[in-house]
Amino acid sequence: MCKCFTSIFRLSFISKESCISKKKINEKILFNEINYKNYVMINMSTNFKCLVCDRTIGSNELALHKQQEPNGYKYAILWPEYNPLDNYCYDIDVPIYHSAVISKALDVRKVYILDEGKNISGSMKDYLVTKTIKLAEKKKKLIFNLASSGNHALSLARQTQMHGYYSLIFVPESSYKIKHLATYENTLIVALKDATYEDVYRLSNQINVSEIFNANVSNELLITGFQPVARRICALSPLPSHILAGVGNGTYLSGLTWSFQHTLTNIPRIVPVGMKGAFPFESAIKKNINIYKYKNYGVDKTYINEAVGSIALESYNMPQLCYALKISNGFPLGNLQNNDLRNAYLLLMNDKHLMKNGVIPEPTGIMGLAAAIKHKEKFSPDDILLISFTGNAYTSLESIKRLVPELMNDLSKLLSGKSNNVSFVNNQKIKNMVHIHKTISQKDLYMIIQNWMNTLL
Ligand SMILES: [Zn+2]
Repeated sequence: MCKCFTSIFRLSFISKESCISKKKINEKILFNEINYKNYVMINMSTNFKCLVCDRTIGSNELALHKQQEPNGYKYAILWPEYNPLDNYCYDIDVPIYHSAVISKALDVRKVYILDEGKNISGSMKDYLVTKTIKLAEKKKKLIFNLASSGNHALSLARQTQMHGYYSLIFVPESSYKIKHLATYENTLIVALKDATYEDVYRLSNQINVSEIFNANVSNELLITGFQPVARRICALSPLPSHILAGVGNGTYLSGLTWSFQHTLTNIPRIVPVGMKGAFPFESAIKKNINIYKYKNYGVDKTYINEAVGSIALESYNMPQLCYALKISNGFPLGNLQNNDLRNAYLLLMNDKHLMKNGVIPEPTGIMGLAAAIKHKEKFSPDDILLISFTGNAYTSLESIKRLVPELMNDLSKLLSGKSNNVSFVNNQKIKNMVHIHKTISQKDLYMIIQNWMNTLL
């Protein structure tokens, strides 16, 4: 199932159980076998730790416990205990580079750049969606509903199309990515006027139709879906000491931590990164609580608006991410503004090897690098950073044009070349989209959905 790359710049992942004995390992590939704990299957039941009441919850009591906890359905409050039956891996083509240019600029031992932009739909959300589809298939559901203002929705539209399934996606009408989404024929876009992400989420979660699978819930099951990328990181030598990524909802870093917990003796320190005044997770950590919500943004949004996927008043994954920080001895880095994102792009442009390989993230995706530059003093010369570029630039061209006009040349080359496995859909015809007001009655909403579903049969 796994690929072995030969380029020294493209470090390879080799899964211990499936590849080592079967394939000859290229000498150039650095593989850190000693870091693995034993993967031998242990017969354990599927339990979850409740991050609110600290009780162990069996899989048969999951639904009931989530109902009993006041925030049980709104926030990801459960952490899966190791379940070998869920230990799955699939082939991914997401490269990891090391950048001498960036490590020199940051004055650290080494910097790895993980380019999630090369994922199926161009972002790290693809792990979540792959796992979601697997869960839904078990329940024989082929239609999905999702509230998302960006990459999660792009991933669902793309992957359901690949499988011949369908998606019903709720977005704020102001979403930057709506044009891309609306080109998928298997997808109905429900665009909400004057709506925030919270409005969209609320409306999407009202849908209760037996044929439709809610792709927003069951985080306690979905976070195990990051094993393919986690294992690739585990195969690096030397291992990273810190993992930095911008936080949309935090599931990515929580998922990596969950996998590391069952793989590595020493978990790299998890460093979630956020924008100034829009990073409630950082406040939660300071207050030593695991659920926290802002009433308003702490700064004028025009200073932070380019990282659309990461500015939030609350995040549903907060309890899981707090736990990930606790077990990894991690820490948040915030306080970023648009100008910090620009500085990160300017440094990235100095690494010709990365540019040649089309490693250009969207503004939300470059936050990890922006934070490493801004908070350089937090790292020592012995540190080894893995910075994840969580999403591809092609989805946010207008933002990049505003932030770094000097990058547009490279970006145009990238989009016209074949190096990008994600098609550029901006000029395609818009297919299925309805515009509704957020106060729509449930009856009217169901009528829209039913009419759409009738066209699928
Ligand atoms: Zn509980």
